[in-house]
Amino acid sequence: MPSEARAFASSDLLPAPKGRAKDFARLLTTACMLGLVVHIAFLALFYQSGAVEMVYFNVGSVCCFMLATWQAKRQRTVAAMILIGAEMVLHAVAAVIVLGWGTGFHYYLILTSPVILASTFTAWRIKVVLNTFAVLTYVALDLGYRDALPMHILDRTTVTSLHTFNLVTVLLVLSGLTTLYVRLIQQTETRLRELATTDSLTGLMNRRCVMDALEREQARRVRKPGPMALMLVDIDHFKKLNDTWGHNMGDWALKAVSKVLKEGVRDMDFVARWGGEEFLIVLPLADVDAAWPVAERLRLMVSQVTYHLPKHPLRVTVTMGLTAFGLDEDVDAVIQRADAALYKGKSEGRDRVVIAAL
Ligand code: GH3
Ligand code: MG
Ligand code: MG
Repeated sequence: MPSEARAFASSDLLPAPKGRAKDFARLLTTACMLGLVVHIAFLALFYQSGAVEMVYFNVGSVCCFMLATWQAKRQRTVAAMILIGAEMVLHAVAAVIVLGWGTGFHYYLILTSPVILASTFTAWRIKVVLNTFAVLTYVALDLGYRDALPMHILDRTTVTSLHTFNLVTVLLVLSGLTTLYVRLIQQTETRLRELATTDSLTGLMNRRCVMDALEREQARRVRKPGPMALMLVDIDHFKKLNDTWGHNMGDWALKAVSKVLKEGVRDMDFVARWGGEEFLIVLPLADVDAAWPVAERLRLMVSQVTYHLPKHPLRVTVTMGLTAFGLDEDVDAVIQRADAALYKGKSEGRDRVVIAAL
């Protein structure tokens, strides 16, 4: 494949989501490591306070977080999340029973619902079952242990410190989760908008998108009149190119022409793929006199690109129909006029710009 062809073929017109799974695994690893540190601190605190049951329990928690960190590092995010989730629920229940409701360990159960419901790794039926279980566990703890005497009575300062720490941690994690979900929704929305408005082969605006843009521009011109020109561009003898060199080379030529057209106009102009091997270019604030040299320049630029296939220099030419918008004129009528001019250009021999007067 010639060098230009390779350049066009490799152009990343619609970037794929960038390493989202890797980012999530990294975030989860950090969360697991933080959990590990916190549980080591809890272990020391409970040991000092003589809460033996919780010391044993926290040894298990530390092992659990070590395992979860290892899994997250290896990008086994589902396994890591199951481990963290199970530890969180069991630790919350055990701590409420042993140390009492006042230490605020029950707050961690509030985190389970958003994580379970927003997770992507399980079916809805399982999510509903897990969430119901989490809700029932919280309500049962609330009814059974809110006023119950704990198994191990900690001093007041320790209870207050633990309560504040747990409350702040849960609120911070909730804020972090909400931010993460909002960002995910925004990224997905952006990607969907790109897919709905962009032509996947050339990266140009698609037909629907340019029609919307044209309607908006026309509405703007009614309020603030000014000239606007439109060109329909059609590659000459494209069928022959496909038949001779194959569909892939045809696709590559489409990308090459798109690139030339896009780079040959101002940022404020729109270039769209209108269909097959046809393009539509709109030049706001340009009348036919101003647009004609632009069209001629684009036509020349396209015809000067040479793709050196083995032994055969390949060139493509385009024919263009150029016209201007009347004030408040129907967009379809303008396009039809440009199309008639394009058709005339084809019958007159192609590789030319034909102007259709208003
Ligand atoms: P003219 O000079 O009169 O425009 O002739 P033409 O051969 O360019 O026009 P025609 O309408 O006969 O053929 C257009 C061809 O464009 C036919 C179709 O196979 C090809 N085509 C349409 N879309 C694509 C595409 O996405 N990729 C490729 N490779 N070919 C396409
Ligand atoms: Mg055509
Ligand atoms: Mg054609």
